[in-house]
Amino acid sequence: MRILVTGGAGFIGSHLCDRLIADGHDVVAVDNFITGSAGNIAHLQGNRHFQFVPADISECCDVDGPLDAVMNLASPASPVGYLENPIATMKVGSHGTYNALDLAQRKGARFLMASTSEVYGDPLEHPQKESYWGNVNCTGIRSVYDEAKRFAEALTMAFHRTTGMRTRIIRIFNTYGPRMALHDGRVVPNFVAQAVRNEPITVYGDGTATRAFCYVTDLVDGMVRLLWSDEVMPVNVGSPDEMTVLEFAQAVKAAGQPGCTSEIIFYQPHAERVSDDPQRRRPDITRAGAILGWKPKVSLNDGLKLTIEYFRQAIGQS
Ligand code: NAD
Ligand code: UDP
Repeated sequence: MRILVTGGAGFIGSHLCDRLIADGHDVVAVDNFITGSAGNIAHLQGNRHFQFVPADISECCDVDGPLDAVMNLASPASPVGYLENPIATMKVGSHGTYNALDLAQRKGARFLMASTSEVYGDPLEHPQKESYWGNVNCTGIRSVYDEAKRFAEALTMAFHRTTGMRTRIIRIFNTYGPRMALHDGRVVPNFVAQAVRNEPITVYGDGTATRAFCYVTDLVDGMVRLLWSDEVMPVNVGSPDEMTVLEFAQAVKAAGQPGCTSEIIFYQPHAERVSDDPQRRRPDITRAGAILGWKPKVSLNDGLKLTIEYFRQAIGQS
């Protein structure tokens, strides 16, 4: 198969390229490096099964030759990333997704949309099932990301309903691992970098907000299973092991090097950074289990050790 991955130089996109090539496919990655980096795909340059096309998919998404699938991951993903690039985030969710869908249609390819748990906003239903319509503040600061992804899901369904295209929608919950950008401001790179540097670990607010963290290879496995499945409606993929942000800080400290002297502090970031911050988040992954036979395999401690090792090297080189 020949598969296009938009956002292929990003954190998840680069792991997806690795997995698809390992599965025997040819991969074309497209990226404009707004939040990704050439370093994430440096190891693939020169591989005859890999091609990189620099492009902003909000302007144009096209490649020569046949395609069997288009996997649309292009979008800033961290709150810092999308708050710094609000218009570009809305454009890639709308124009970019349209261009990627249009390309898939012209090539007769399958299409997978990388959506997000943020479509549920600050959820009033817990854990979140795919049937939940969400609680999004459409003029709030996070709306640029949440509404762009909600639009992208709607557009994907519209293409499916009008053209019969084989579309898939994955709702990704918090995912972590090597190649997350050091400065993207998400809780994982922040806490891990702070622990590696023996700096204070900055828990925002009182640390009672919850998340559940899925290791990237598990997430990518769910994504690939969904691509080849027949499921048109959205599927949640993420870890169901919910914990508070304070518990996560303790887990990072425990997984790090012996002698980590970082203290955990309660820190008040700029109000904008935590405006509309979802207070509870945990996926109901019943459908992923039933439809895809998927569940996460990598323990938090093992995943954190691999992530800490990556950040130790990245910090050493920075
Ligand atoms: P990332 O920022 O590392 O990767 C996104 C990639 O898309 C980057 O390489 C970026 O440069 C590229 N990109 C953005 N706009 C583009 C454009 N207009 N044209 C071409 N390339 C563009 O983020 P990530 O964590 O790897 O997220 C990948 C996808 O998964 C995103 O769509 C994100 O919304 C989704 N997602 C991620 C998580 C998570 O926890 N990491 C959770 C939910 C959803
Ligand atoms: N957070 C934190 N300290 C940090 C960064 C984030 O306490 O240094 C909190 C943030 O307020 C949120 C959770 O960690 O409650 C997850 O934030 P992240 O930015 O990783 O992504 P989100 O899940 O909100 O998209």
